[in-house]
Amino acid sequence: MALAPYAMEVRKSRGRRYPEAPHPYRNDFARDRDRIIHARAFRRLEAKTQVFTARFSDHFRNRLTHTLEVAQVARTVAAALEIDADLTEALALVHDIGHPPFGHAGEKQLDARMREYGETFDHNIHALRIVEQFEQSYLDFPGLNLTFEVREGIIKHSRDYSPEEFPELREYLLDKRPPLEAQIIDVVDEIAYNTADLDDAFEAHLLDFDQLRAEVPIFDSAYAQTDRRNPGGARKLKFNEALRHVLDLLTTDLIENTRKRLESVQARSVDDVREQPERVAAFSSELATQDAKLKQFLAANLYSHPVIAGERDRYISSLDGLFLFFMGHPKKMPKHYAQLAENLPRHRIVCDYIAGMTDHFLLRQCDEFQVCVR
Ligand code: MG
Repeated sequence: MALAPYAMEVRKSRGRRYPEAPHPYRNDFARDRDRIIHARAFRRLEAKTQVFTARFSDHFRNRLTHTLEVAQVARTVAAALEIDADLTEALALVHDIGHPPFGHAGEKQLDARMREYGETFDHNIHALRIVEQFEQSYLDFPGLNLTFEVREGIIKHSRDYSPEEFPELREYLLDKRPPLEAQIIDVVDEIAYNTADLDDAFEAHLLDFDQLRAEVPIFDSAYAQTDRRNPGGARKLKFNEALRHVLDLLTTDLIENTRKRLESVQARSVDDVREQPERVAAFSSELATQDAKLKQFLAANLYSHPVIAGERDRYISSLDGLFLFFMGHPKKMPKHYAQLAENLPRHRIVCDYIAGMTDHFLLRQCDEFQVCVR
């Protein structure tokens, strides 16, 4: 399929750190996507929490199924905008690979500990280190040897970094915006988790349906429409139908508004996209407001719900307990990490070791070393 002139076409890639011969029937972005799927860190997403830990139900989202939903929506958006589908899919599949156990709360806690040593922990930078150093499965190079654009997208998919604060990221054109393929990931991520979290929360009976309708107009009007068509339908099915409609509305708005913005800035190349002062991929202001209300509702009623927050706090205390335990007993880590901790800053190695754990493994370790907070 012919791509739009502003697409990040694979033939224009800046390439890999370690040059490799071309593959006979897969281009470099397609190979990057496949390497990500075959990475250990990708498989671990299955045992990492999105919002609900596994104790709630086996059919709620975990970070792997969330990632697949992001990839699915991102492919639709990429096709509609005629941008590179392989690069988009690779970036969607890799976007959460750097998440430590217990989601954003885990990230915040590790960051707080690292700041005591004048360092930070950030899941995007951690993801970059995973694909550049920690994954070891190729004879010819360390890491996955991904193309520049995939590495750049890993760093920039959700935020910008200043070259003064992050000199180690200087090669990633920090004063420029990333290509559209990377820009859409952040918005699609938000569409995917806002709708999925609502779905799981409703299934878990943690939300008040009437309050949801009163406070989230985009859901209310979708539900009212569904209800008019099927007044006798089961409420759960009408809920599903309405939620699907919300997902569709947000996705369509992202596609159409991004298209409009591309036209208004007259983007004719990837460089035109890169040179914009702001990201081009975005909701319209009307839908951004609607989406913000949904987000606020989830923050106020789900993420801070005593059932969710109470469990999260206990797990984060356990994570912290394990951090302190390994700081005091570095030899209790596996040999490889214990050796690294002798020569490199111990906090860095402990942080990397914990960040790579699945939720399940972390809790087993906490049990073993008796630092679990129950
Ligand atoms: Mg995500």
